[in-house]
Amino acid sequence: MASQGRSDENGSSVHDTQEAQVREALRTLLDRHDPATLSPEEFLGAQYDAGLAWVHFPPGRGGLGVNPKLQTLVDEHMIVLRAPRCFPKNPIGYGMGAPTLLAHGSEDQQDRYLRRLFTCEDTWCQLFSEPSAGSDVASLATSAVRDGDEWIVNGQKVWTTLAHLSRYGLLVTRTAPEQPKHRGLTYFVLDMHAPGVQTQPLRQMTGDAEFNEVFLTDVRIPDSERLSAEGDGWKVAITTLMNERVALGGSQPRVFAMEQLMELWQEKRPDDKMLRDRMTRLYIASEVCKYNALRSSANRKAGTPGPEGSVGKLFVAELNQRIWNFCIELEGANGMLYPSYTDLNSEHPHSTGQPFLRAQANTIEGGTSNIMRNILGERVLQLPGEPRPDKGIPWRDVPRS
Ligand SMILES: Cc1cc2nc3c(=O)[nH]c(=O)nc-3n(C[C@H](O)[C@H](O)[C@H](O)COP(=O)(O)OP(=O)(O)OC[C@H]3O[C@@H](n4cnc5c(N)ncnc54)[C@H](O)[C@@H]3O)c2cc1C
Repeated sequence: MASQGRSDENGSSVHDTQEAQVREALRTLLDRHDPATLSPEEFLGAQYDAGLAWVHFPPGRGGLGVNPKLQTLVDEHMIVLRAPRCFPKNPIGYGMGAPTLLAHGSEDQQDRYLRRLFTCEDTWCQLFSEPSAGSDVASLATSAVRDGDEWIVNGQKVWTTLAHLSRYGLLVTRTAPEQPKHRGLTYFVLDMHAPGVQTQPLRQMTGDAEFNEVFLTDVRIPDSERLSAEGDGWKVAITTLMNERVALGGSQPRVFAMEQLMELWQEKRPDDKMLRDRMTRLYIASEVCKYNALRSSANRKAGTPGPEGSVGKLFVAELNQRIWNFCIELEGANGMLYPSYTDLNSEHPHSTGQPFLRAQANTIEGGTSNIMRNILGERVLQLPGEPRPDKGIPWRDVPRS
């Protein structure tokens, strides 16, 4: 890896020093812990203790306090070794829950949650969207009312990925309806096993049911599980959302998609020059995505990334769809034939149909492409904002359907 960044008094760059530190920690971890013989939980626990869970987190919290870009080095090793990995099993916990807990959680919450999240003993989900609050999530209606040292929560969430498997949820509620929408929110960690939490799976067109409706009826949350100050939940929600965009913008499915496309290409149409031109463009775009993800993770510090994360999210979502559309075209009429609805689920990941259908959700999940364009227009390019008729008006007085 090329050396970058400042130099220390010995003349070696900070980046080189940090890279050497990560390599050494990795060597020690793998010398002492064989991923082939240990249980996933044991291996991931050792990886956390070695500071190689999120290398940019502080020591003692799963990190080494170094540049986040160096996580790629660790992840690539783990993929080659086929070692257990947290992200594929607990993506919301890994990419969004952990940075949110690190930025806003108490010492006690970080102690209780971070290691078990990384070992996947506890899966996490994100309870933001509601039937009437998706793109405009700050208008959500799930209420939390204080009762002594506890809060009583009532409402409904939707599209909650992995809720049916989760032990904890990142929950945003409305605690001050008399305030304008962004000011009356409070953020909690929800125990998904608490009485009054009910999850109901939603079936997708892929045949899978990865997300759910979640009904909350008189659910009691101890005040010690509050992640934000009362009424200041939007600030914490932004940390989660920005990290979500970075996680989705640097995601691996695009790499898988490109590999599938190249295989199909070799098999079906290697001599078609017109199509080769199209494939080359997709390959170049895929490389651009890779370097953009590396650059944004190099600029990122632990905590809340900037709106630039939306560039990667927007580009990756649309590119992934373009690649799978092309795969389906290469398959020809066969691409439209599915043996059965049930064969489309993720137990058959090598069919082109399943990922093609799943990719349609990429431009919706984690914020739609329209919303990414709005964020980039307003917050990065400084274009005039959209009209906001509910600005400054108490949430309870805003007309809603
Ligand atoms: C696979 C998948 C997984 C998901 N997982 C989760 C999860 O784990 N947790 C969670 O909380 N949510 C989750 N979601 C929900 C997701 O965040 C929302 O679907 C998304 O934010 C859009 O909200 P909506 O569906 O209510 O659409 P709406 O907000 O109703 O939008 C409908 C259409 O209007 C457009 N639109 C809306 N407002 C504007 C505007 N101001 N300017 C321009 N266009 C606009 C949108 O782009 C869209 O095309 C998931 C969604 C998917 C597809």
